[in-house]
Amino acid sequence: MSQKRHVYAFHEGDGKNKKLLGGKGANLCEMTQFGLNVPPGFVISTEACLDYLANESKTLPDNLMNGVRTHMEQVEAATGKGFGDAANPLLVSVRSGSAMSMPGMMDTILNLGLNSNTLEGVIEQTGDQRFGYDAYRRFIQLFGKVALSVPDEAFDEEFEAVKQNAHVTEDVGLSADDLKEICDRFLKVFEKHTGRPFPEDPYDQLEIAIKAVFGSWMGKRAVDYRRQFNITPDMANGTAVNVCTMVFGNRGNDSATGVAFTRNPGTGENKLFGEYLVNAQGEDVVAGIRTPKPIARLAEEMPEMAEQLEELRQKLESHYKEVQDFEFTIERGTLYCLQTRNGKMNATAMVRTSVEMVEEDLISKEQALLRIDPIYLEQMLYPRLNNENKAEPVAQGLPASPGAASGLAVFDADRAELMGKEQGQKVILLREETKPEDIHGFFASEGILTSRGGKTSHAAVVARGMGKPCVAGAEGISVDVQRREAVAKGTVIREGDMITIDGSSGNVFLGQIPMVEPDFTEELNRLLRWADEAAYLRVMANADTATDAGRALKYGAMGIGLCRTERMFNAVDRLPVVIEMIVAETPAQRQAALDKLLPMQRSDFKEILEVMSPKPVTIRLLDPPIHEFLPTEQQLLSDLNELHHLRNSVRGMNVLAGSMMLLQDPELARQEADSLRHMVDESLVEQAIEKKETMLRKVRTLTETNPMLGHRGVRLGITFPEIYSMQIRAILEAAAECAAKDLEVHPQMMVPQVCTAEELKRVKAMVDEIRVDVEAKYGQKINFRFGTMIEVVRACMRADSLVEEAEFFSFGTNDLTQATFSFSREDAENKFLPMYNQNDILKDNPFEVLDEKGVGKLMQLAVDWGRQKNSKLSVGICGEHGGHPSSIAFCHRAGLNYVSCSAPRVPVARLAAAHASLQQQ
Ligand code: PEP
Ligand code: MG
Repeated sequence: MSQKRHVYAFHEGDGKNKKLLGGKGANLCEMTQFGLNVPPGFVISTEACLDYLANESKTLPDNLMNGVRTHMEQVEAATGKGFGDAANPLLVSVRSGSAMSMPGMMDTILNLGLNSNTLEGVIEQTGDQRFGYDAYRRFIQLFGKVALSVPDEAFDEEFEAVKQNAHVTEDVGLSADDLKEICDRFLKVFEKHTGRPFPEDPYDQLEIAIKAVFGSWMGKRAVDYRRQFNITPDMANGTAVNVCTMVFGNRGNDSATGVAFTRNPGTGENKLFGEYLVNAQGEDVVAGIRTPKPIARLAEEMPEMAEQLEELRQKLESHYKEVQDFEFTIERGTLYCLQTRNGKMNATAMVRTSVEMVEEDLISKEQALLRIDPIYLEQMLYPRLNNENKAEPVAQGLPASPGAASGLAVFDADRAELMGKEQGQKVILLREETKPEDIHGFFASEGILTSRGGKTSHAAVVARGMGKPCVAGAEGISVDVQRREAVAKGTVIREGDMITIDGSSGNVFLGQIPMVEPDFTEELNRLLRWADEAAYLRVMANADTATDAGRALKYGAMGIGLCRTERMFNAVDRLPVVIEMIVAETPAQRQAALDKLLPMQRSDFKEILEVMSPKPVTIRLLDPPIHEFLPTEQQLLSDLNELHHLRNSVRGMNVLAGSMMLLQDPELARQEADSLRHMVDESLVEQAIEKKETMLRKVRTLTETNPMLGHRGVRLGITFPEIYSMQIRAILEAAAECAAKDLEVHPQMMVPQVCTAEELKRVKAMVDEIRVDVEAKYGQKINFRFGTMIEVVRACMRADSLVEEAEFFSFGTNDLTQATFSFSREDAENKFLPMYNQNDILKDNPFEVLDEKGVGKLMQLAVDWGRQKNSKLSVGICGEHGGHPSSIAFCHRAGLNYVSCSAPRVPVARLAAAHASLQQQ
């Protein structure tokens, strides 16, 4: 005989043992034991469930029903009622509840204990026949359906028949007699479908209900749910059964039922928030038949109850030290708490309640930080679509840069500039894909939408850098620039039509969708200051311009961890000079272009250093292959084609003009011919053709089969040293000019794509030479640091020799991930990665979540080998992973000094860095 204990009264069970008692049961025990008024009851353990399921004869474990009887007697004593007592009946609810909340399991049975005898008792006690029959018919149906699978429709048919006979349309119109008839009909339905009469003995009812709850654990819904959400037996095994005394909020005008939050879940305000209904049951609130009243009204309707509810609120919070979402019922002037759980709130409310609960000494600063999932903060930092948005997207692309924006669709950058900048309209730049020459369109637009390309496409990268929303690769949209329209799901979007993009989900909508603006509150600032105190990792921002840097400061960046200089090359006034530099045929021509670029870059760097003073600014020397700044071969061929057409037409006109000379009036003919010739000068067309052809030759010589693995980064800097020289000089001169103004600045020079120490040595030699020159010119020493990116596998392997040249390492994990996996990011994300993730071949997208086992291992080696030679080596990360919480936790464990991420991610990273420290402690 089993000696295991299977039944626990609410005042006995261990409120922390969710595995044994299920979440709901443990909670009922805990609430009872710290003094809340919970209706008396008991929990049958999950172990009993497992024993029952293991037993092939499907009988309850020995002694289980004895335990149930003993505990029911205790409940009878506590309530002064009797289970099955016709004079003073005790009714109970029966609910399932496993260690994990599982909506796939059994529904609740209410009013168990009713039968033809106890029903009379209920009617006598309440003096309300209608109430009695209504409770009874609900019980028969629920019991039949939930415990013995009688189909709802069988009951519903009878219910409708009685309603028709009574000529009523609403349930509330049914009289006590009608309800009595419904009960009779329901009892027959029950018997017909189960082949047995409705059980009259309350203990029989209870036993059947317990078996049904236990059985539901292996029901299809529950099994599917566990599989879907990966709930394994160590997380939840078996369900408990909760048996709880029924209390009624529908016993008259001194009764009520409601749901409430201890604080406002939308704003965090420290005030009871919720709704209630007088003379009603929980179901009525849910069914929405009557409109509930705001909780503040209770103070007028039932002042004493309102006071007790306020007390309940205080008790809940001081016990759980967390905002609670709870259910209550008032039965004839007595307040009961039926359920409580941690309240779900939006980010604004989470932050405010964290700060206020610390001020109230309810929780510690550490708890305040740890209760917020860092990624949650993003909600507060971008404009976002209102949750109530029910509009259907017309297309979906990749969520390439977060935030939402609405604007008029425009199909090229010039038009974006005209409408956005000059006419002051809000526009969304909608392109097949974008190129460097579209950059002015980015500045003028609220957001960017492309129908091609991935998360690292030009559009995505530039938009993220600027902090503008971007949806990339929305393949459902076909763009026709010539006609200035696009088609999505059969709808034509014309230039000037309002559209909305959501860069956080990738959705595209027609029209303007209401938005919620970002919210950088004083509470958030306070919370993040606590985070900075707790964190070891410092948080830097990736920012390419002074404007971006200013924004990064607002988000609390402690410096710039990555300034990509090529973004400056893309600016409207720079690009023609950059192209001039690239297409230069002689060193002298190239130098002339670089001489024009030097002052521009110097002033760029100076502005950033000034904005960030005295914080460090890490400037990366030019990285991308230079052909990226040129038009594509395809574009050039199409331009040339047009120019050739034009030349042919001009020639045709000239022939026409010549023949007009032969006309009778030679003077008139000459005039006509001249005006025709003036319309287009053939020599101008020839010049344009020649220029395009030169460019085409250049593009063809620069074209690479695999540009990302080709002539870029430091390789470019070594083969075209004058480009890096110009940048190094611009950085040093900018620093000197700031210092001359007594500004404390800390520039850091960083070399990309390094794979051997020899490369670093060569660049370092350039730096040393230029430094001597600049120091002499400005008459002062220049304070700066020299370091390398680590984004090539070999760089990790050679960290011990790189450290001899570099004062700091910064992991470029975007490239390092590509290099480690040998995946090209765009191809991977557009082709096989989603399938790999769905099929668990790879758990996460390694371009978003740092691959700790592979890339992380390489990083750890590089850190360890680097620090063995230089224990003071500063190490950071500036790939996209620098803004991802679990990756930040890894960086903390790996011993990095800082992470760097896009500006709006900085708050997320600050909180994640604090979590990493606190969790390690
Ligand atoms: C990286 O590779 O992680 C990096 C920061 O450089 P980019 O993304 O500019 O290649
Ligand atoms: Mg890189």
